[in-house]
Amino acid sequence: MSGAAPEKMVYAFGGGKAEGRSGMKNLLGGKGANLAEMANLGLPVPPGFTITTEVCTAYYANDRQYPEGLKEEVEKALGEVERITGKKFGDPSNPLLVSVRSGARASMPGMMDTVLNLGLNDDTVAGLAKLSGDERFAYDSYRRFIQMYSDVVLGVAHHTFEEILDTYKDDRDYVLDTSMTAEDWQAVIAEYKEAVESALGKPFPQDPQEQLWGAIDAVFGSWMNERSKTYRRLNNIPAEWGTAVNVQAMVFGNMGETSATGVAFTRNPSTGEKRVYGEFLINAQGEDVVAGIRTPQSLTKQSREEQGSDEPSLEEAMPETYKELAAVFQKLEDHYRDMQDIEFTIEQGKLYMLQTRNGKRTAKAALKIAVDLCAEGKISEDEAVMRVDPAALDQLLHPSLDPNAERDLIAKGLPASPGAASGEVVFTADEAERLAQEGRRVMLVRVETSPEDIHGMHAAAGIVTARGGMTSHAAVVARGMGRACVCGAGDLKIEKDGSKFTVHGREVKKGDQITIDGSTGEIFFGAVATIEPELSGDFGKLMEWADKHRRMRVRANAETPLDAKTARGFGAEGIGLCRTEHMFFDADRINVVREMILADNEQGRRAALDRLLPFQRGDFEQLFREMKGLPVTIRLLDPPLHEFLPHGEKEIGEVANALGRDVKDVKDRLSQLHEQNPMLGHRGCRLAVSYPEIAEMQARAIFEAAIAIGKETGDPVQPEIMVPLVSTKKELDLVKDRIDAVAQKVFAEAGEKLVYTVGTMIELPRAALTADKIAHSAEFFSFGTNDLTQTTFGLSRDDAGSFLPNYLRHNILDQDPFVSLDQEGVGQLVAIGAQKGRETRSLIKLGICGEHGGDPASISFCEGIGLDYVSCSPYRVPIARLAAAQASLAAKKRAEG
Ligand code: ADP
Ligand code: MG
Ligand code: MG
Repeated sequence: MSGAAPEKMVYAFGGGKAEGRSGMKNLLGGKGANLAEMANLGLPVPPGFTITTEVCTAYYANDRQYPEGLKEEVEKALGEVERITGKKFGDPSNPLLVSVRSGARASMPGMMDTVLNLGLNDDTVAGLAKLSGDERFAYDSYRRFIQMYSDVVLGVAHHTFEEILDTYKDDRDYVLDTSMTAEDWQAVIAEYKEAVESALGKPFPQDPQEQLWGAIDAVFGSWMNERSKTYRRLNNIPAEWGTAVNVQAMVFGNMGETSATGVAFTRNPSTGEKRVYGEFLINAQGEDVVAGIRTPQSLTKQSREEQGSDEPSLEEAMPETYKELAAVFQKLEDHYRDMQDIEFTIEQGKLYMLQTRNGKRTAKAALKIAVDLCAEGKISEDEAVMRVDPAALDQLLHPSLDPNAERDLIAKGLPASPGAASGEVVFTADEAERLAQEGRRVMLVRVETSPEDIHGMHAAAGIVTARGGMTSHAAVVARGMGRACVCGAGDLKIEKDGSKFTVHGREVKKGDQITIDGSTGEIFFGAVATIEPELSGDFGKLMEWADKHRRMRVRANAETPLDAKTARGFGAEGIGLCRTEHMFFDADRINVVREMILADNEQGRRAALDRLLPFQRGDFEQLFREMKGLPVTIRLLDPPLHEFLPHGEKEIGEVANALGRDVKDVKDRLSQLHEQNPMLGHRGCRLAVSYPEIAEMQARAIFEAAIAIGKETGDPVQPEIMVPLVSTKKELDLVKDRIDAVAQKVFAEAGEKLVYTVGTMIELPRAALTADKIAHSAEFFSFGTNDLTQTTFGLSRDDAGSFLPNYLRHNILDQDPFVSLDQEGVGQLVAIGAQKGRETRSLIKLGICGEHGGDPASISFCEGIGLDYVSCSPYRVPIARLAAAQASLAAKKRAEG
């Protein structure tokens, strides 16, 4: 296939104007669109151009061939850059050098690293030396270019060059790169070139055009590398988006002591405090600041003093330039109406802007910035609600160190990402992932991290690095993931063989427990106790705004009084799912439960159930008391009975003994209860059909408790009794009749009535498809999307772990359907169920109670089909409240056009 070439493939920027805008992120990528926007704002942006994401898409659609006409457009745009800069690409006397930078819609680690100083070769390097009057600078730039280009474009490993340089320096007793003269760099360059030639069998490319297209190819190529794929998978970014390529005239932060390069946030990305926050390095280039090779200096005097550093801040070292920079920060923040993450370079006193984007931030900072911007009149309440990523709220709910716990401080680094965590030390990302899969909590300890480590960072409870600043890879990625992280703990000496690290004479071996506090940068030996967080005033305010806009109610899945209390504390408006079987497992009653299950006849079962009744009634009393009149949905017993029975030989013996029964007897009953496919077996309402006395006991416990607590508190309790795993109306009717009969009996005994409802879970495809019939009997539906996902896909949740990851890797599924609702399939059944339910009973109450009830994307789907509430685990209640508000606001916006 060929596919027509996109109409315009290259967008120029620079010289005070640009062809693109910040609204064109889909086409130009985030970096390109914002470079264009900054140029249009009249900010000092080195000129350049952006090759669009459509070219990337066309490239892959067309068997890695570029659309026709691209070369010409690139040539023209490059000509424009030459005109603005007055330099010429490849001209030995006045060479134009460029950077080649990838830039997808969302910033994406895993994409090709930027190549700087492109256009240098044995001839142009001499031109650069003459032009700058600085030979050393020119050859330093050239060797950097060879190193970078060889690594990211040609695939010659970085360490090849590090080793050459280290050996060269060692031989001459040089410690710092600053000892290297122009001649030294020339000698190193010769060795670099040899190394490239011997690795590749051909020389390092000298032709600037070849260099340029090599780099462009490499950017587009990196869109499909494994790292990018992993990142896209973890972040739900579709492969179709493609990346853009930015080619931009170089400016040099490494042209001596009046040159510098830096990164800044217009507000503190950890706390949200309204204060410029950033780092810079004098006489440095590009990634030096984030690479953690030298320790960067603070931008402001205030933060330098706070950090107790002697190295001057930019504010002190270059006051004029700092003033100009501060004005740019203000301008950009006002323009984007959000906190910006900015890269800049100073070339011999002249300021250049190289990047801006809405800055990544912790949840705490996100809340504070949204609330502050609203107070500053920059954004509305609605916008503030839309600004905070609901999933990120999770971070606020992370624990901190118990102030009373014993602790053994062994080191301190930078407080890179908040939260306290402990885990056993591992030194590689693969190891972290492997142990985490075994259910162990691990602490990933690295010299520094790179995009190859992402899977391990994801798997770890926390991350420690020995090198790198607050804007290093580890810090940025950890904050984004909500992992606790301590960076730049320079005292850690990590053994190369990955067996241990030493710090101040102490050894910490692989497998030892350590604890980190990502809010202070402290590292402790052993597992230190942690405590639950308290939520800030900003949180309360934003939640209050969110609740104003929310249509759907938010309930919690909770069965213990503690869960219920937590849920209410987080703002739950009821319990959407109380799983009664959890109550059966308590040590003081499991044997009565077993006695009931093992009984030979109804009479035996009823005797055991009579003894269970007071326990169950007590459970429900506590729950109702805690929920203070809020609705509580109680699901009748659901799992197959053998889940309650002993398994091993020894346990079977003990149970037989405790119940005074024969071991053989117990074994016989066990094998009767054995099922091939328990997930599809004798469970849910099928139990109530076979043993209605169980449902009767539970109904009685519910009604008696409800009456008692109604009397005690004066708040009438309105229980909602939910019959699980219904697939036909008749099944439900049979169970419902029993429940209603018990109700009448209990009411007569108590001389008191209460309002209750009986409904069902919709968790089987047949129930969804016949929901109109079922709704004649059910007063409410709760979509049990965990089982509905299993039964719709024919996929067992317990077994999917071994093959589902492959489905994600091969993009057969975009997401784990047990985490985020499969809207196309399972969602369709939910929508059908909701619609059919309403056909019969227009005011039927509809909710969802699977894991999906706490997933923002699924919540937005629920808003779309008009469910009344979502129910999720207590800790996700704030997330659900915010996600529901955002879904309502988005729906409102759509309705308004
Ligand atoms: P990333 O997306 O990893 O931040 P960038 O493309 O922003 O990659 O570039 C990496 C580093 O190189 C940044 O510090 C950036 O400021 C610097 N850089 C990129 N282009 C230029 C340029 N034209 N002149 C000087 N420095 C540049
Ligand atoms: Mg990079
Ligand atoms: Mg950048």
